[in-house]
Amino acid sequence: MKRLEGRVALVTGAMRGIGLGIAERYIQEGARVVLSDLSASTADEAAALVSKLGANASYLQLDVAQESSWQAAEKSLRATHGRLDILVNNAGIDCTGAIESMEYSAWRRIMSINCDGVFLGTKTFTALMAESGKSTRWGSSIINISSIMGMVGFVEASPYNASKGAVRLFTKSVALEYAKKRTPIRVNSIHPGFVKTPLMDIGMQKFVDRGLAEKPQDLFDAIAAQTPIGRLAEPSEIAGVAYFLASDDSSYCTGAEFVVDGGWTAQ
Ligand code: NAP
Repeated sequence: MKRLEGRVALVTGAMRGIGLGIAERYIQEGARVVLSDLSASTADEAAALVSKLGANASYLQLDVAQESSWQAAEKSLRATHGRLDILVNNAGIDCTGAIESMEYSAWRRIMSINCDGVFLGTKTFTALMAESGKSTRWGSSIINISSIMGMVGFVEASPYNASKGAVRLFTKSVALEYAKKRTPIRVNSIHPGFVKTPLMDIGMQKFVDRGLAEKPQDLFDAIAAQTPIGRLAEPSEIAGVAYFLASDDSSYCTGAEFVVDGGWTAQ
């Protein structure tokens, strides 16, 4: 029997990058996975991806910054699967620039997706995940994708640093609350270093557009050179840890932070 057989997972921001890597791994391990993302206009792309991933994959449009969108997702999960064992709060955006020229609207936008999204998902799905958690030996699992930037500061990344730091402590607080009340849900955060995804491509292009580098590849090379392991991560390397946290092997882990950064923060 595959390790996640019988489990249902919801992964936000799952159409590409780290979220897609996690969804693929969960499907390999036998879970039924609901892949969600923001863009309703990608319905054809979503249908193609879901059919490629097989019968255990389905798609749900979900804007993590909207409470009504989460409530609709909860209704849909109850109706289609009747349970939720694994919630991966992965959807996120970045935001870089000097503090004095940072627009307040840009700060509000990143907070609404990176922080409100994690809060709303956790709040909305607590009841269903608690019910589901009673039927498995070690309960349900919430996995929040923070970043090494939720642990250490980076130049001109203050909104992103703040949003990911908030996810880190929100994780610990809710983990304690559930544990204290014997609610059968574990909550942990993952802190990736630099991972090859569209978010990184777009982020590096922004630095090039500002004249801070000649081409994105120069920046990727510089990041690799500063990373002890000497390269960026693949989404599948984050997915491996997300699989561990979804599985019964992590039965005693809650409120913990899992750094996957090729040694960056060990320096
Ligand atoms: P990505 O390639 O840009 O993918 C992000 C996903 O989030 C997309 O599917 C996007 O959907 C979705 N999304 C954005 N806004 C959303 C919203 N309001 N509601 C629902 N979905 C939304 O990013 P990634 O690099 O895989 O990053 C995934 C997570 O890992 C993020 O939380 C990021 O901060 C974190 N992280 C990334 C790195 C890295 O180096 N890449 C490092 C540390 C942490 P649309 O396509 O519809 O916009």
